[in-house]
Amino acid sequence: MALRFYNSLGRKVQEFTPIEAGKVGLYTCGPTVYNFAHVGNFRAYMFEDILRRTLELCGYQVNHVMNLTDVDDKTIRDSQAAQLPLDTFTRQYKDAFFEDVDALRIRRAHVYPAATEHIGEMIKLIRKLFDAGVAYQAEDGSVYFSIAKWPAYGQLMKIDRDQMRAGVRISHDEYAKESVADFALWKAWSEGDGDVAWNSPWGKGRPGWHIECSAMSARYLGPQFDIHCGGIDNMFPHHEDEIAQSEAANGCRFVNYWLHNAHLVVNGEKMSKSLGNFYTPRDLFAKGYSGREIRWVLFGTHYRQTLDFSLAALDAARASLQRLDAFRQRLAEAASAPEAGTAIAAERAAKATADFQAGLEDDLNISAALAALFDLVRDGNRLLDEGTVAGPAAAAFVQALETCDQVLDVLTPAPGEGVPAEIQALADARQAARKAKDFAQADAIRDQLAAAGWTVEDTPKGPRVKRL
Ligand code: AMP
Ligand code: ZN
Repeated sequence: MALRFYNSLGRKVQEFTPIEAGKVGLYTCGPTVYNFAHVGNFRAYMFEDILRRTLELCGYQVNHVMNLTDVDDKTIRDSQAAQLPLDTFTRQYKDAFFEDVDALRIRRAHVYPAATEHIGEMIKLIRKLFDAGVAYQAEDGSVYFSIAKWPAYGQLMKIDRDQMRAGVRISHDEYAKESVADFALWKAWSEGDGDVAWNSPWGKGRPGWHIECSAMSARYLGPQFDIHCGGIDNMFPHHEDEIAQSEAANGCRFVNYWLHNAHLVVNGEKMSKSLGNFYTPRDLFAKGYSGREIRWVLFGTHYRQTLDFSLAALDAARASLQRLDAFRQRLAEAASAPEAGTAIAAERAAKATADFQAGLEDDLNISAALAALFDLVRDGNRLLDEGTVAGPAAAAFVQALETCDQVLDVLTPAPGEGVPAEIQALADARQAARKAKDFAQADAIRDQLAAAGWTVEDTPKGPRVKRL
């Protein structure tokens, strides 16, 4: 079946055809690094991770670019409140972002361009907009995009021209659709900006938020590319303004497929920093939840449906993952038994992987994909109960699980995940005894662990506690 996505531009499901066969240029709006990203933000990055991994499962070579917004209204405001230079202030949140990305097993983008390192490209782009006759400098020194001069403005949100307040200027990066107006490309320096400023042909100042993404996407993916993603809150004004800037400057279509994820909500309200109703991944790690459990919750609801976030959902994720772990463990044990049931295992495994992939190809239908996975678990467990899957036949199931895991990436528990604190304490005591060369004590603790149903494996990365 062909890969297809719901394209926000045109609002319908469309078959995916890349510009260049076998390759995909993917741009995803990244974090504004003024604080730790919360799991609402990570819902967006998780959807994009599932999208990218699905494209890769389908054989595409993906070039993934995610920007880091390290200069905008919010980073300037909060760095000043913290009395830190902008780059020192944003550095800590960039570092934290990458730690969280890794902990949630999100594949890193190929490039993470930072806005402050691409000011030259932004200035060049604004010059092109002057050449195209759609930019002007206002009395306050700031440069604006004139929506009256660009008849194609409003394609993404289907904005009527008579709704537009042409000539009215808006200098904030974020504004409501009701306030559609000329938006800032370059913001003249004002006292509130402190020492954050760059020189430009229009005087000292800084770029608007929207021009950052237009300039950096063109720099790494060219003026026209395949897929651009973000949360639905980014559709207006951010993406609408990106389209206007890029198409007016480059004279070609900007993006072929726009994909937007719905919000993650808590008790019916969008999770956001301003409402204060947020959890960061690190808040959840501190409560004992693991990266793969958070991952499971974030991708478990279709990306275009609102995701209701709760700790109960994380507990349910733990139970689902334990079921998968137990199945995998049973398969590992069955693999060493004499061969049985090869044909039926191969057939079930092939059906599961085909259904899994077909689900994802259908606009990332994760429910269909997970249903295929759990059919495999149910069928597999039944065959294992009957003793009809053993030896190499078990390997066919393992392989099917691993194919699904190329996208899901949840099969391997993190070291120490799910190990009760008292068992971990015993394992640590055993390690200390070994270091002190008290082998009798180390062996005694090993026996104690075994009696409780646990074992310690010594790996090159150190001891690992496992269920017996
Ligand atoms: P920001 O750092 O605010 O620019 O947001 C980064 C990404 O997270 C953007 O794609 C937003 O649309 C997305 N986002 C922010 N809050 C939520 C939420 N509660 N649910 C889903 N996506 C969100
Ligand atoms: Zn963006």
